[in-house]
This record gives sequence, structure tokens and C-alpha cells, in this order.
Amino acid sequence: MTPTDDLGPQPGQLRLLHVEDNQLDAELVVQALRKGGFSISAVVVQEEAEFERELRLQRPDVVIADYNLPQWKGMEALEVLRREGLDIPLILVSGALGDITAVDCIKQGATDYVLKDNLARLPEAVRRALQEKRVLRLRRQAEEDLARKAEELARSNADLEQFAYVASHDLQEPLRMVAAYTQLLAERYRGRLDENADKFIGYASEGALRMQSLIQDLLAFSRVGRNGSGRVDCNAVMEEVLVSLGSAIQESGAVITHASLPEVWANRTQMAQVLQNLIGNAIKFRGKEPPVISVQAEKTGQHWLFSVSDNGIGIAPEYAENIFVVFQRLHARTEYPGNGIGLAICKKIIERNGGKIWVEAQAGHGSGHGSVFKFTMPCDPAEKELCGDQNNKDIKSLQELRT
Ligand code: ADP
Repeated sequence: MTPTDDLGPQPGQLRLLHVEDNQLDAELVVQALRKGGFSISAVVVQEEAEFERELRLQRPDVVIADYNLPQWKGMEALEVLRREGLDIPLILVSGALGDITAVDCIKQGATDYVLKDNLARLPEAVRRALQEKRVLRLRRQAEEDLARKAEELARSNADLEQFAYVASHDLQEPLRMVAAYTQLLAERYRGRLDENADKFIGYASEGALRMQSLIQDLLAFSRVGRNGSGRVDCNAVMEEVLVSLGSAIQESGAVITHASLPEVWANRTQMAQVLQNLIGNAIKFRGKEPPVISVQAEKTGQHWLFSVSDNGIGIAPEYAENIFVVFQRLHARTEYPGNGIGLAICKKIIERNGGKIWVEAQAGHGSGHGSVFKFTMPCDPAEKELCGDQNNKDIKSLQELRT
């Protein structure tokens, strides 16, 4: 080991660990770096044990290694860095290094290489290596922050869900008492108190019933869990949905068509809930004409893209996101009944399956002329490879096109 500077590292100095057997070459490297504006504290080593020791002692900012040494190889220093879990940049300096070897070294993890007869390039190579390391560290930091935030968010979501479940579940019982007794009051004392009292008891009992229905919906929302998934034939689900919407279909004169629908990987009951909510809404929010509803599905990469389109009252684009929030509605209940939970349930189910849901205006019409609800569902996992293969093919042909 040969320290080229007598003093230990000073603040702002570049700590260099140099793997080099030739004293003169080592000095030339330090000179080149000083000339390039660096203030250096350098330690020179020749073999592995020394390298390991100095690595631990001085934690260098950069390692410069001669490619060929009598007892060792510069690239083996890289192995030591890896073993120690250190991401210190390593720059090879060599008398002669063919292009193929140089590229190979960089592929293996060396940051750069500089020829000994072109040491003027070394400061720039070191600067770039340090910069890359800084960027890498920042990126890693950002990734870690993001992962931590995602974990916190998932935890707080789970807490919220638990809270919504417990609150709505436990509120049911006292509310049942309030509803029952206000109803009893209404029945027993109607006409026996003054007119105002009848009105107030009426409001109280209406309020209690309404709150019961909201709480039941909230409970239904928080019960949407990660129930078991399997292959679900959407054609069969569709038939069931049409049966359970039978009276609404008959009453409104709705015409519902659907293409041949795929099998998806989902929970059958939840898939039925999604289709039933969307088709039910398409019937409920109809315009003057009888509803014309069409359900389609097409494959896009690893997902099936479903669409449920209608000719109903449509949705102004500014509300396109709000409507998926719990209890958000655009109309009074006297106009259209409901609590505003259906789409929130759809969104929760779809997102739990790794999909997305959104609404678009009918193509060619503005708002007020029907809506198209779209959602994605993952392919059957057995098919995923197939979809993936298709993606790979697409990427390959894109690359071919580019070259
Ligand atoms: P609800 O049907 O009980 O109101 P949803 O969550 O299903 O609750 O829907 C939220 C709101 O989104 C509805 O109140 C309505 O304003 C709007 N909406 C949903 N589906 C449609 C549709 N097909 N056409 C027009 N508006 C719709």
C-alpha cells in the first residue's frame, strides 16, 4: 500500500483507491486528476487482501484499477465491491484494452475505461461516474420513499375499510331502535298531539329509514373483499343479470344486446354485481326513448376491455370521476332513486382485480346523449402468457421497425 499524499483525506477531497502495481503510472493518474481540478487523497494497492482492507478503512469515492496486474486482475476488484455491497464506481485504466474487452468489462459492471496514453480524459470519466452514482442514489431513495408511501397508504386504506365496516355494522343496532320507536310513535300518537308533532315524527322516522338504507349500502361497500377468484364465463353471468333485472327491463322496454363475452379471472358474484349495477344504471338513467344497451368486450394486451353503452341521459364530463365516489349522485332521489353506492362498488371490485373503470360520452354525441362505461379485467392467468407473448411480439416488431 502506498499513500501518495501524506495527509489523510481533507473535506472536499476525492478519496481514490487505486489498484496499480506501477508507482509511476499511479502518480500519472493522480497528476491527471489534479490537473482536471480534483483535490485527491489516494491510496494505491496491488492485491486483493490489501484492497479489501483499504476499502473498509477509507470507503473511497471511486476505484481506479489497472486491467492487468501481476498478482491480480482489475476486474476482480469489482467482485469485491459487489461482495461488500458497495456501489462505488470502478474505472479501468489500462495500457491497451481492445474495444471488445472494454465493452465486456462495462457490461460486467465497470463504470468506464480510460487508456493510459489518454489520461486527460480521466477527470471527465470520474466526474461522470460520480454524477451517475449520485443520480442512482437519488433514484433508489425515491423508489424506497415511494414503496414506503405505498405501504403506508395500503395500511391506512385497510384501517379505513375496517373502520367503515365496524362503524356501519355497529350503528345498525341503535339505528334499528330509533327507526322502530319513531315508527311506533307515528302509529300510536298520530292525530293525538298537534299537527306539528305529527310532521316532526314523520321527518324523524323518514330520516331513520334513510340512514338505515345508507348504512346498509356502506356495509355492502365495505364487504367487497378479496373473495376467491376463478374462471368466470361472462356470458353465463350476463344471462343471470338479465333475469334478475327482468322486471326493470320489461317496465322500461329496454333492448339489451351483448356480443359473445369472454371468460375472465374474477369472482363470479362480484362480476355479476358489476354488470348488474352498470346495466341497472343504464336502464334507470334512461332518456325519453326506451333504453338501448349494448355490452361488448375486446382483448387489449393482458386485459379484457368491457364496455356498457346506453342511450340515456348521459353524464357531463366534469362529473365523470365524482360519480365513482361513495354516495356521490348527480340527481335528487325524487328524480331517480338510489344512494350513490353502485358505481363505488363497481370501482372497488374492478380495482381489486387490477383493472380500471371510467365513463365516456357516446362517440359523436355530447353529454346528454348516452354514456359508455368501460372497465378492464385481467385475462385468465393461464392465458396471461399468451397475452404476454403477444405483447412481446408487439415489442419485437416495434424494435424491428425502429432498426
Ligand atoms: P345510484 O344509481 O344509486 O345513484 P351509482 O353509484 O350507481 O348510484 O351512480 C352514481 C351517479 O352516476 C348516479 O346518481 C347518476 O347521476 C350517474 N350515473 C350512473 N350511471 C349512469 C348512466 N348510465 N347514465 C347517466 N348517469 C349515470
